[in-house]
Amino acid sequence: MLARDAADLASKFLLRSTPFYVQFQLTGRCNLRCRPCCVPQRLQGLAELPIAGIAAVAENLGRIGTTNLVLTGGEPFLRPDLPAIVEVCKRRVPHVRLQTNGLLITEENLAPCVAAGLDGLTISLDSLVPRVEEELTGRPGVLPLILEKIVLINNLFPPRRGPLAVNAILSAATCAGMRDLVGFVEGIGWSIAVVPVHVGCGSGEGFVLRQQQGRDDPGQEYPRQAGALLQDLAARKTRGAAVANSRRYLREAEPFIRTGETRWRQPWRTGWACDSPNLYFAVRPDGSFSVCHDFSFPERVDVADPGFPELFRKPEFRARVKDAAAACPGCYYGCYPEYTWMFRSPRNFFETCWGYAWSLLRPRRRRLELSRVLGCLRAG
Ligand code: SF4
Ligand code: SF4
Repeated sequence: MLARDAADLASKFLLRSTPFYVQFQLTGRCNLRCRPCCVPQRLQGLAELPIAGIAAVAENLGRIGTTNLVLTGGEPFLRPDLPAIVEVCKRRVPHVRLQTNGLLITEENLAPCVAAGLDGLTISLDSLVPRVEEELTGRPGVLPLILEKIVLINNLFPPRRGPLAVNAILSAATCAGMRDLVGFVEGIGWSIAVVPVHVGCGSGEGFVLRQQQGRDDPGQEYPRQAGALLQDLAARKTRGAAVANSRRYLREAEPFIRTGETRWRQPWRTGWACDSPNLYFAVRPDGSFSVCHDFSFPERVDVADPGFPELFRKPEFRARVKDAAAACPGCYYGCYPEYTWMFRSPRNFFETCWGYAWSLLRPRRRRLELSRVLGCLRAG
């Protein structure tokens, strides 16, 4: 397994022609309406593939050499057939992970996913202050529930299986409490990725960076606080903390927060927009190809179609996707820039590979007690 992974990584680093990361949005439905998110609105009304269609998508993703498949939504646990989905995906793609808000997880629906070979799971958690998490998710009493699910997930996953990770959105609302959250995640032996909030699509107007700077934060206090925090996280990472972001990502997040500039995309210098579809892309609930989870492709391309692998290898298709991506103003999500740097910068490549190897060599998770975890809630 390790030898196969190493060969796969080397070929992706040298050629950048087969996807390292595909996000499969199994459903557009979600049990939450988080203020900074517009995924449910964007995917609204799209049909969802039955298990046979999902198997066909997984078959094609395997045939084009996909390394990591992230099953997400909306909320993937809204699919009652999720264990069967994990099973068919694991038959075709080496690493399969879930991205979830966690609230619908039970022992009955997670244990069969783990038994089917699920490799890891990422849960959304932005603060240890109940009021802040409630405001972000719109759900009263949500934080103790998330912590309860973290305990369940932790104790169901075998200690050497993972990574188990927290995805935390960095915004003016969460910045002050982020050090506490990072310390908590470290303490339970998980890892954390911190991602600056993005320009929303209406419902999350209070989180729109550029507006927030001019209107809600005239003194630019948040960018200053966030810059100090990001420097601190980079230093903690150097000392071995389980911060999943690369140091480069942390360093360049500050100008993104201040100005919205996405420095990792510099087509005037390098001739590329982003690395979709060569290194990453997304699949929507109906099985259609998408440039990424945020930016769709103008025409419908069916990833479940038997002809998809052949189409994917055609230079004309890649050029078409590149043109579509070039029309996008850019993003600073935790995945796409990181994978572009990983496969375009030797330094980032070795930093990421070393972090992964270290997490395998030195697993830090142990059994958790709910009462102790609930004791980590903060007042505020
Ligand atoms: S962030 Fe996740 S949990 Fe929240 S509304 Fe969006 S898809 Fe649902
Ligand atoms: S830069 Fe645009 S098209 Fe490329 S991954 Fe980010 S949002 Fe998608």
